[in-house]
Amino acid sequence: MPGVDVKLVLRSTRVVTPEGTRAAAVLVAGGKIEAVLPYDAEVPAGARVEDFGDDVLMPGLVDTHVHVNDPGRTDWEGFWTATRAAAAGGITTLLDMPLNSLPPTTTVENLRVKQQVAAPKAHIDTGFWGGAIPSNTKDLRPLYESGVFGFKCFLSPSGVEEFPELDQEQLARSMAEIAGFGGLLIVHAEDPHHLAEAPQRSGEKYADFLASRPRDAENAAIEGLIAQARRLDARVHVLHLSSSDALPQIAAAKREGVRVSVESCPHFLTLTAEEVPDGATEFKCCPPIREAVNQDALWAGLADGTIDCIVSDHSPCTTDLKTPDFASAWGGISSLQLGLPAIWTEARRRGHTLDDVARWMSAAPAALAGLTRKGAVEAGRDADFAVLAPEETFTVDPAGLFHRNQVTAYAGRTLHGVVRSTWLRGKRIAADGVLAEPTGRLLERNH
Ligand SMILES: [Zn+2]
Repeated sequence: MPGVDVKLVLRSTRVVTPEGTRAAAVLVAGGKIEAVLPYDAEVPAGARVEDFGDDVLMPGLVDTHVHVNDPGRTDWEGFWTATRAAAAGGITTLLDMPLNSLPPTTTVENLRVKQQVAAPKAHIDTGFWGGAIPSNTKDLRPLYESGVFGFKCFLSPSGVEEFPELDQEQLARSMAEIAGFGGLLIVHAEDPHHLAEAPQRSGEKYADFLASRPRDAENAAIEGLIAQARRLDARVHVLHLSSSDALPQIAAAKREGVRVSVESCPHFLTLTAEEVPDGATEFKCCPPIREAVNQDALWAGLADGTIDCIVSDHSPCTTDLKTPDFASAWGGISSLQLGLPAIWTEARRRGHTLDDVARWMSAAPAALAGLTRKGAVEAGRDADFAVLAPEETFTVDPAGLFHRNQVTAYAGRTLHGVVRSTWLRGKRIAADGVLAEPTGRLLERNH
């Protein structure tokens, strides 16, 4: 029996491992997975045993795309509420986006401010992306050396003035700088010229908003990004892909060896333009939720590996900013606590398994960020788990969410998959909607 100091054994008839789902006993010691053994393996003397029966034991989710907005816009969200919502939803690691907080994460000094604010509030392990804006090229390397996981940039206006977009020349400069130290550039890819040419109508009709953010804007931005990445041999990641028309060029670039990866989000994969009611701006985000036929193609892109991962892009705001006018309402969908059941509900309907979901929502985002201790139930990784009752259903009641603002596009939906408990480094941090005191750690790249 390995690990004389094993204090905890977690058993389930369905443990999701990188080799598939099977009955197993997971030995935990010192917050790490010591071994994954057969279900009926002999338990070390003195170890506590938790048997989840037929509930699924899967790796805790890794959400690399969360806007926590703390400090500065804490009426929108904050580390306390975001990490509680995440824990309740089966997420054990999140990476915070560099914008919408004040200050944005664009200098080392600003990073330190954010880390200080996050440290006492983090219920799950939390790390930070840096930001690449026109004025901070010289700050990128020091930020990277200070532990950010990579750099986010926009190619079109971000929505907040303290985080300006990069033009093509600035993109090339930032990308070259980041490639020079082996970093990763993650990109909000919508082309500003295509957006400027699109019809801009205000009002409550979703179709008008959709027309203002055309697929061409994404397709063109991604084409330019791939060209730059190829030229500079840089590593780039396409954030929140919505336009399925971009999939063939991404697949071709990957085959060619361009270092490009792609994420999509629960809202693009589970909600459709056709069903958005007039004035329902809780469905507004950029790029936008598109048609059902587009969604089918995104699922095909997941199935064939063109899309690497699924992350939330949780981007909340206060209720008053979700006015019924699609043109002026704040863009962003709030979903942190609901991503796992939302995706599982649609995935099972389309014939996918929880092994697929764990790959898309744990292993792949962990790999994207270089989080080698996260993202899988296997020996040597952190003992981070979600325990899920996959056949059980619930109806989304916004009042039951831990987000600061209980506005969500998923209100009233019946979803499959109830998160029974969440475990962080061997400690139960959430159980049936009850949260433990915060024990999350701040993560830095390569630590
Ligand atoms: Zn975002």
